Amino acid sequence: MKNLNVLISGAGIAGPALAFWLARHGLRATVVEQAPALRDGGYAVDFRGHVHLGLLQRMGLLDEIRRRQTNMGAMSYVHADGRVRSSLPADFMSGDVEILRGDLGRILHEATRDDTDYRFGESITGLTQDEDSVEVRFSSGETRRFDLVIGADGLHSNVRAMAFDDQPGAVCDFGYHIAIFTIPNLLGLDRTGVFYNEPGLSAGVYAARDNSEAKASFTFATGDLPPGRRCRAEQEAILRDRFGGMKWETQRLLDALPSAPDLYFDSVSQVRLSRWSSGRVSLLGDAGYCPSPWSGAGTGLAIVGAYVLAGELARADGDHAVAFAAYEAKMRS
Ligand SMILES: Cc1cc2nc3c(=O)[nH]c(=O)nc-3n(C[C@H](O)[C@H](O)[C@H](O)COP(=O)(O)OP(=O)(O)OC[C@H]3O[C@@H](n4cnc5c(N)ncnc54)[C@H](O)[C@@H]3O)c2cc1C
Repeated sequence: MKNLNVLISGAGIAGPALAFWLARHGLRATVVEQAPALRDGGYAVDFRGHVHLGLLQRMGLLDEIRRRQTNMGAMSYVHADGRVRSSLPADFMSGDVEILRGDLGRILHEATRDDTDYRFGESITGLTQDEDSVEVRFSSGETRRFDLVIGADGLHSNVRAMAFDDQPGAVCDFGYHIAIFTIPNLLGLDRTGVFYNEPGLSAGVYAARDNSEAKASFTFATGDLPPGRRCRAEQEAILRDRFGGMKWETQRLLDALPSAPDLYFDSVSQVRLSRWSSGRVSLLGDAGYCPSPWSGAGTGLAIVGAYVLAGELARADGDHAVAFAAYEAKMRS
């Protein structure tokens, strides 16, 4: 492929997956990630069906993903006193192979770091396009030119905000927030998860890493919570406020929150854009088509999207207009 200078915003799942395939096509991409290091939070993501598994096999990553898979069994919904109300079988919850999101991120980073320029603690603050390139301004103050910019920076993509400012209704909020954090395996769970619900509230906990730890999960109806980003202290205060009176083991889980090394806290939302590209800028993964964490489809879509986008760029020998149109035509349905 023609030698293109590609900037990817976001080192989650989609960004490194694209860097992987661009390297296979002979390109060394630059990836900027606003977090100071790889983000380790969240629970698990899964892959389903022959397209996902075949693609991971082609990337040479399937064996490593299987080696680190969660091996979770059935999940239960319980009464406040712990009696089981109902169970969901493992293959409904965990797909064909399920892995902690942080582990998947690390596998992708390890597979790409020798062929990719990663810059952590950096983000894009401005984009100006002309016929030949995109001038990018970074939070460090630096300015550089790239042939293409790919926004793989998740649900709250700032590339989307900068290059697609004509689509204000793109993020559809489902009216819930979700929080996940790592705690000791307080309930002694053996490769299983337990949930307890009250109206507008769901608290749960899953065993993780061979039962050596657990992931607490809190979902609540957003109600009158104003939109916007919050610091960790504010997120913790919201969880204590919403779940303070909840029965079951909720208080023990909440008590472990201040010592949790991570806290993933976000709205449950979907991204629906009328187009995924704007000139030399395109979107990948949750930034362009987040299906919401409830669908369980975001990670599979991100890795398939990365493969298709890189493949179409190679097929069009770097002609981004042709490649972006073909990528969207193949992926949109
Ligand atoms: C910490 C975390 C935990 C998650 N946990 C789960 C989970 O348990 N279950 C589940 O189903 N899904 C989870 N998700 C979402 C899931 O990873 C995605 O739906 C899916 O894998 C698609 O990945 P993505 O790379 O498009 O987006 P993401 O995985 O969200 O990655 C986007 C990356 O872009 C970075 N970024 C954001 N803004 C900027 C910016 N301005 N400049 C540079 N970088 C930026 C983010 O820090 C992040 O690393 C989680 C996401 C994150 C970030």
